[in-house]
Amino acid sequence: MPMKRLIQGLNEFHDNYFSTHRELFEQLTHGQAPDVLFITCSDSRIDPNLLTQTQPGELFIIRNVGNIIPPYGGLNSGEGAGIEYAVYALGIKEIIICGHTHCGAMKGLLQLNKLSEEMPLVYDWLKCYAEATRRLVKDNYKDYDPEKLLKLTIEQNILTQIENLETYPVIRSKMHSGELNLHAWIYEIETGEILAYNADVAKFTPLEKGPFPVPNPLAALH
Ligand SMILES: [Zn+2]
Repeated sequence: MPMKRLIQGLNEFHDNYFSTHRELFEQLTHGQAPDVLFITCSDSRIDPNLLTQTQPGELFIIRNVGNIIPPYGGLNSGEGAGIEYAVYALGIKEIIICGHTHCGAMKGLLQLNKLSEEMPLVYDWLKCYAEATRRLVKDNYKDYDPEKLLKLTIEQNILTQIENLETYPVIRSKMHSGELNLHAWIYEIETGEILAYNADVAKFTPLEKGPFPVPNPLAALH
């Protein structure tokens, strides 16, 4: 009985975690001041706070199917509103786009036409905002085996979404002044590790020696 289990969890949270962190929750009633905007997939296997060992109030989070950011200027999106609020109102200086291994959305992207009948909304979402990734993979990596192809698609999707982030006026402005860093991450479900895009070697590499923010092409020239 899933709801029973959730209610039991709520009670446990209230009796244990909430009780022993009263000061934190009291402080949070006065407002939030998160340092990081964490964008990730809706996939239930990812828990941003758990994997970064952060507490309530530390991460501002946007989640959707495939950790996708529609570029600025199209339809108004919840993602855009979240980005604007995070960067302008909350003054966030670090944005992480975190994809993950075994991503169902990226598997779907590799067989996009199969989705159109049964999940037209998922189809539209991927067709609109992940088509650059699909095209790049389809045209350049036909010979890859399915596992390697999925890994590459996951990586390329994150890099596409980084570029989409850079289309937002509020992001361009803060990147120009050097006040904002973008990070491209992959969470490996099988190892519990994070890989980050390291532009020096043009690869996703383990994060220990990071943080490896992506290069800022928008920084002021002087
Ligand atoms: Zn996913």
